[in-house]
Amino acid sequence: MDYHSLYHTMADGTVKQINPFTGVEVWTVSERGNRAANGEPDGPPPEPLERMSPEGYCSFCESRLLETAPEKSRVVRRGDCYVTLHHVMPEQQSQEAAEFRRVANLFEIVSINYWRQNYNYKLSPQNIQWKDQYLSSPLGIRHVMGIIDQKLKLSGKSDEEIAAVSPDVKLTLADAFFGGGHEIIIARPHYRSDAQTTADLFSTGDMTDEQHAEYYHFIIDALVDIISSNRYVRYISVFKNWLRPAGASLNHLHTQIVAIDEWGSSIDRQVKMLVADKNVFNTYGPNFAGLHNLVFAENDFALAFVGIGHRYPTVEIFSKSINARPYEHQPQEIRGVSDLVRACHAAIGGSVSVNEEWYYTPIDCIFKMPWHINLKLRMNVPAGFEGGTSIFINPLSPVDLRDRLVPRLYQLRGEGRINPSIRIAEECIVVPNPLQYYRTC
Ligand SMILES: [Zn+2]
Repeated sequence: MDYHSLYHTMADGTVKQINPFTGVEVWTVSERGNRAANGEPDGPPPEPLERMSPEGYCSFCESRLLETAPEKSRVVRRGDCYVTLHHVMPEQQSQEAAEFRRVANLFEIVSINYWRQNYNYKLSPQNIQWKDQYLSSPLGIRHVMGIIDQKLKLSGKSDEEIAAVSPDVKLTLADAFFGGGHEIIIARPHYRSDAQTTADLFSTGDMTDEQHAEYYHFIIDALVDIISSNRYVRYISVFKNWLRPAGASLNHLHTQIVAIDEWGSSIDRQVKMLVADKNVFNTYGPNFAGLHNLVFAENDFALAFVGIGHRYPTVEIFSKSINARPYEHQPQEIRGVSDLVRACHAAIGGSVSVNEEWYYTPIDCIFKMPWHINLKLRMNVPAGFEGGTSIFINPLSPVDLRDRLVPRLYQLRGEGRINPSIRIAEECIVVPNPLQYYRTC
């Protein structure tokens, strides 16, 4: 394995990297590292926060539930337990606080019409029943019609044009809320409980391990539900855009789920590599990272290392499980992955804009690819040099990023803010081939 050609430091300190899975070429130029942005978003300076209870700062906040589409399901807390409720009617939604809510995205990337027109997709009998039930409530129909009108308005229609759309057409448009494939999972808080200013947003690292694991279980349940109601789905993209530089339209913590009828070129390429070499994710993942001392955190179920050849500084967290898809993982395995992802978010810090992206074996793929999650720190903006050369300048070298996160992880663990079972830096047990996905039993 010629690892040197993928990752080496030149005499002047320039770090050259090629991502083994994407072929993307990246340099970290030593003189420019010092002028790297700190990852904090541009925009107006923070202002003193006027607290609201319940929160109503944006359309995802809990006092503004009817500004999102009808709620597919929610997680509530009862004592020490989390309970999932499905299809809560609008009249009942304020009776109990929702820790997490699952709703359709009003502006779908892959719309219900895509599925309808290309595959003759129809709502499942269960989703038709739910739609009928929701619309049978006076508040339900008012809510749905109001959201459709708002959606038409935001897409550029005038009030007269909206008034001319028949109720039947509007109700057909509403199918997207009940059986579409682009959803959002919204966490409850907008700001941290100790927030003083508008900069003190509630971010992933502010959750407890239990909350975050529940969040992951809820996302995974949504994947299973989408697959069961749309048989044309071949992959479901899961991602979180945190803060505007990462593409978020609202600074309120949420994850998006988009069902697609392809694997996408990135997964296609990774599967081709997997067919050629079953162990490729160990070879270019933790084995490679371990040889370069880039594995920086681990527990019994997952490990985290700094990836090479990414356009943005990137942490990669891999499940070690023999099970390939998130919904095939055992609860303790999901918890292990969840704890490590949350710890990395906490170490990165909530003021840094981040994309969280999931990768896993597609629904109709027979080759097992391990579940892994990339956290991309949106600290830099690719510009003309990148466009002209396809060489990307990443402001932090893999070692820079590792050395930035490790002290923070020690500090967080010392303060009891991440799971104490997480091993950090030299405590990691770096054995060859730690990912077990290649095994059949
Ligand atoms: Zn909000």
